[in-house]
Amino acid sequence: MTDTSFPSLPLSDQLLSNLSSLGYETMTPIQAASLPLILKGQDVIAQAKTGSGKTAAFGLGLLSNLNVKRFRVQTLVLCPTRELADQVAKEIRRLARAIHNIKVLTLCGGMPFGPQIGSLEHGAHIVVGTPGRIEEHLRKERLCLAELNTLVLDEADRMLDMGFQATVDAILEATPKQRQTLLFSATYPPEIQAIADRVMKSPKVVTVAEEKSQSTIEQRFFEVRDEEHRREAAMQLLFDNKPQSTIVFCNTKRECQDVADELRSHGIEALALHGDLEQRDRDRTWVRFSNRSASVLVATDVAARGLDMDDLDLVINYHVALDAEVHVHRIGRTGRAGQKGKAYTLFSGREIRKVRALEEEQNITVEESALPEQDLDLAWFPKPEMSTLQIDGGKKDKLRPGDILGGLTGKSGIEGNQVGKINVFSTYAYVAVERSTAKVALKKLGQDKLKGRQFRVREIRGR
Ligand code: AMP
Repeated sequence: MTDTSFPSLPLSDQLLSNLSSLGYETMTPIQAASLPLILKGQDVIAQAKTGSGKTAAFGLGLLSNLNVKRFRVQTLVLCPTRELADQVAKEIRRLARAIHNIKVLTLCGGMPFGPQIGSLEHGAHIVVGTPGRIEEHLRKERLCLAELNTLVLDEADRMLDMGFQATVDAILEATPKQRQTLLFSATYPPEIQAIADRVMKSPKVVTVAEEKSQSTIEQRFFEVRDEEHRREAAMQLLFDNKPQSTIVFCNTKRECQDVADELRSHGIEALALHGDLEQRDRDRTWVRFSNRSASVLVATDVAARGLDMDDLDLVINYHVALDAEVHVHRIGRTGRAGQKGKAYTLFSGREIRKVRALEEEQNITVEESALPEQDLDLAWFPKPEMSTLQIDGGKKDKLRPGDILGGLTGKSGIEGNQVGKINVFSTYAYVAVERSTAKVALKKLGQDKLKGRQFRVREIRGR
């Protein structure tokens, strides 16, 4: 067995004794997998979530690269949100507390510029911040990264989700080519791989074995009598589970729209996604669902292809999929990253053959479950957590996520942590805000200028 004690690592005595004073006795799995590589100076991509001990993994790495006597910015940690940046800075200060005179500075959007400028004039070893604000300080030449030796992209997938790609690219331009780059991300979509290919040097990929995704999926099968019963069954399952995010897979476009309309008529915020929609409407539908402004997406397999979301609570197969591979692909959309997910399949007598084929293919025994029964006229369904605002301006207007975030927060605005995903397209953009703050957010964006211009903003509702 490999040694997972910290003293097995080439860390300074100061760092080691501090770790033991913090009560960190053994490495967490992600630390054990990544720290030996990080301390060798290699570029590392680590798939790790908050709570895994990832901050200490890169924190110990960047502290080992630090020359305290040289009072220049040697490390930059980019985080998607101010909350995360604050958390990361706090953990780095804890890890560094045995080393004298280390200066860790946080630079985040939504905070006044004055004090940040003052702190930058005083200098720092380590900067932790959000992309928009860091880029701004770089542009105004208040921050110099010429002596940077370590760059950390934390929660890189979330940064991309929030549309920070271009900003991160601009920041990278300002860093020396000779540097160690560490990328931490809860998921590993192709976009992350693309970034890694561009900005990292032969990165080592580290993942920590999680329970196999299939075992985190609770699969159940429900028999229905006919099409009317099928519709009712889908509704019963939704009302019974009250999940935040569900995809219902249908085999035809027509069925998608019908099922979505039926769910809406029962007060469930459902949207249909299928090939008859214009690209713009498809984008908008996916944005609203993936940013949690809609509870249910009723989709065909083709329309949902390539669209990815981590935290789906439930997948409902409205019909049994046409083949077993499609079925496995559908249900694999829930139960990601070790989270629990549910996959329910409705089948009629006419679909029994397909169910048997699934049993064989998946090596499972299908036991029929009983459908919940409640009076659908009395049932209630929670409203989605977020609401989507559409801004009639986009990349062509040089509008960036940071501008939108900045426009929403600050004086008489909302808090940064009440802002969700931001998606900027060429001529329009969407931003998710906590539902209860939608009015305030709308007012703030409607009153203030973004990039010196007034854009039309409205809340998206309906189908
Ligand atoms: P993180 O995933 O970085 O947010 O870390 C989660 C928590 O685990 C933080 O509160 C850390 O202080 C703590 N932690 C990190 N590494 C260790 C360790 N090796 N032993 C005990 N606690 C740790």
